[in-house]
Amino acid sequence: MADNKKNILVVGGAGYIGSYMCKCLSKEGYTPIVLDNLIYGHRQAVKWGKFYQGNLDDTDLLDKIFTEQPIFAVFHFAAYCYVGESVEKPGIYYENNVAATLRLLQSMIDHDVRKFIFSSSCAIFGEPVQIPISETHPKNPINPYGRTKLMVEQIADDFSHAHGLEHVCLRYFNAAGADPDGELGEDHQPETHLIPLVLDAALGKRPSIQIFGDDYPTEDGTCIRDYIHIEDLAQAHLLALQKLAEGRGGGKYNLGNGKGYSVMEVIETAKKISGRKILCQMVERRAGDPARLVGASQKAKEELGWKPKFTELSDIIETAWNWHRQHPDGYK
Ligand code: UDP
Repeated sequence: MADNKKNILVVGGAGYIGSYMCKCLSKEGYTPIVLDNLIYGHRQAVKWGKFYQGNLDDTDLLDKIFTEQPIFAVFHFAAYCYVGESVEKPGIYYENNVAATLRLLQSMIDHDVRKFIFSSSCAIFGEPVQIPISETHPKNPINPYGRTKLMVEQIADDFSHAHGLEHVCLRYFNAAGADPDGELGEDHQPETHLIPLVLDAALGKRPSIQIFGDDYPTEDGTCIRDYIHIEDLAQAHLLALQKLAEGRGGGKYNLGNGKGYSVMEVIETAKKISGRKILCQMVERRAGDPARLVGASQKAKEELGWKPKFTELSDIIETAWNWHRQHPDGYK
């Protein structure tokens, strides 16, 4: 591979998925260059390549980055990602996830960087009308977070037509698990995601886990999600990068395991793996939670050659438990 294809700007590279992506890029012979404002990211998780601290819409900083080294492609992980918060504070979501991304894209075009891989989300589909959810499913997001992701997909399409931006949008279902080597893991402040909260309860860091609703139309009444390991998400990015590098064009892909697990099943699996007691408290439904989200990823398998390795929930939770047990206070 020619050297100018090696530098990958990873925006949000100090975060949960972005930091693991940098590790994988580095293993594959690429040079990650991280841009992160460290509001949610962790400096300790940036171990590969050069680090720039700043915002993704800081055009002076982007000018500096793009002129200091040739960038082959940009991976964009730097989004606010709390659905509930997006309902309460839509402004910061549209500002960070949409407006700042727009400035990043404009800056890329100004510097003739035209390969873009975007972390999108299954939240763009809204309430499912068909399960599993394929790429052709109607896109009617039901919260500002989902709308910001869909808007960026649309902006990227417009930039493709107008400016020749080549892009891949990867729509994650529920990202989960930790680095199988135990080096990197999930440490959100505040934490709102089910698996790390359940593991905190197993560690005794929380008295119990709240179950948001047991009256959904599912087998045990709790919500069903499709959990996908960060290693499999990172591999999808590498395959997408390869596709762009080989001139095979961009695309939009749903990334899930095609298998759903209920909140109760997640808790039961975590109990088995940790061997600890986990107390549950049944509470009201959380606003904006669809009953069932399960992805169809046939397109990613066929067009990218994607083969998820962590297809069992227990294997996913095991990696998360290993990291949690060894880092009870996260990166601190
Ligand atoms: N959930 C729960 N208790 C919690 C956190 C989450 O019951 O403390 C449920 C939530 O309602 C959803 C599932 O767990 O059905 C996964 O939620 P998470 O926030 O991890 O991801 P999301 O599906 O919102 O992206």
